[in-house]
This record gives sequence, C-alpha cells and structure tokens, in this order.
Amino acid sequence: MLRRTLPFLLAFAPAVAEAQLCEGQSAAIAPDGRAFGHLPYGDAAESDLATLPAEFSVAGPCVVRVDALPDLLRLFEAARADPAVMGQLKALSCQRSIARQRGVFCRGTDSPADRAISVAPPGYSEHSTGYALDFAVRPRNGCPDAEACMAATPAAKWLRANAPRFGFEQSFPGGNKQNVKWEPWHWRWVGTTAGAPGAARARFIFARARKDYPANPVIDPVVVKAPPPPPKLFLKVPVLDIEKKKRRR
Ligand SMILES: [Zn+2]
Repeated sequence: MLRRTLPFLLAFAPAVAEAQLCEGQSAAIAPDGRAFGHLPYGDAAESDLATLPAEFSVAGPCVVRVDALPDLLRLFEAARADPAVMGQLKALSCQRSIARQRGVFCRGTDSPADRAISVAPPGYSEHSTGYALDFAVRPRNGCPDAEACMAATPAAKWLRANAPRFGFEQSFPGGNKQNVKWEPWHWRWVGTTAGAPGAARARFIFARARKDYPANPVIDPVVVKAPPPPPKLFLKVPVLDIEKKKRRR
C-alpha cells in the first residue's frame, strides 16, 4: 500500500526552493520568496544607470539609476552647504550588479546564513536595482558599536532629518520586522512624491518591501487597506399588478 501511495504523496509535497548563491553553496528560499530575510531584486539595465560626480564618492565611481541622480545630487549639495555635516557625507557603495554582489557575498568563509546578516545574498540586494546606496558616515575610530556610532555622526543625523526631502528613505531601520540588521547608512530612492519623475517605477520595485517592512524615516507610507466588505444582496421583489391597482385607487 505504502509503495503505491508514496510516489503519489511525494508528487504533491511542497517543493523546497533553493537558490544557488555561491559555487557549491545554495540556500533554502522561504515560502515567501526571501533568502535569509532579504527580498529578491533584479539587475538594473545598463542604459538606466548614470555616474555620480566623483567629488561626492569616496570609493570609486558611484553608479545609480538615472531617475534618482538629480535628487541625489541635490542631497549632496545641500549636505555640503550645511556646516553641521562638516563635509563628511559621501557615497560609499551604490549600484552593484548581481554578479558583483556574488563576488562580495561569496568572499566570506563563514556560513551563508552568517554572511547574510551583514551582506545581502546575490539576487537579494536593493543595490542591484540602482536605487539604493550606502553613504559613508564614519564614526570615530575605536567605536564599539558600528551601527549606533555611525547613526550618531553629524552626517547620519543630517540624513535622518533631510534625506526624505530628496526622495530617500531608510530601508533597514533598527528593529525592522524583516530581521535585516540595522543599516543606518543604507537608503533607497522612491521619489519625494508618487508623481515625481521615475518614482512610480521605483515604488513598484519596492512595493512589497514598503508594504510589509516599512522604512524609517519613510516617504508616503504604504497604507494597507482592509478589503471591502462583501456587497449586500438585495432581492428585487416585483410589485404585483393587483397591488399597483390597489394603490391607484
Ligand atoms: Zn547597502
């Protein structure tokens, strides 16, 4: 009996999806499509990318989506003009293709799960979209808690107060429900309003992240509406001719 039913049962058992992350290393993909908490993202097309002027980046060319570039330039110019920032806000890492992310992620020697705490797996990074970047916000040397110390720098404080004015929101705030480590340096562009040029496409790409794991600070929070109640059924009862006649009298 079992011999006959087992193939039948196996055919209907839920398949465990796996993603090939590095050579010889794969990871189980959660039923909701995430790998180690990170949502999947595709590569931006080369033709959609542009390079930030070198004066605003500290580690090689910073490439972002063309749509995000005007706001990013305005952000850097505003930060440079603010004495509180002390000229310390620069771009550190911007668009990274899935292939490049694989290089970064697969370099580590600890387990993929451990690496995924600080680096998103290839195919699961907001950086591949070209809308996200890491700002260089340096804490003083010897800081024991990198995230808290970075968040306390004048540059990071300025970002929290001002980045939303330029269409940027913080993807992974402290204690986020997505269980991704707090990244006070990582921001994504979604446009200042839904109607800003290019914002619709960015918001479409980040729709799920924004709905399920809201940014903080956030731009135009995604309000999840409850489904409308089912329509009430009205039965149209025909008025009998006799009744009509009675009323006429
Ligand atoms: Zn980042």
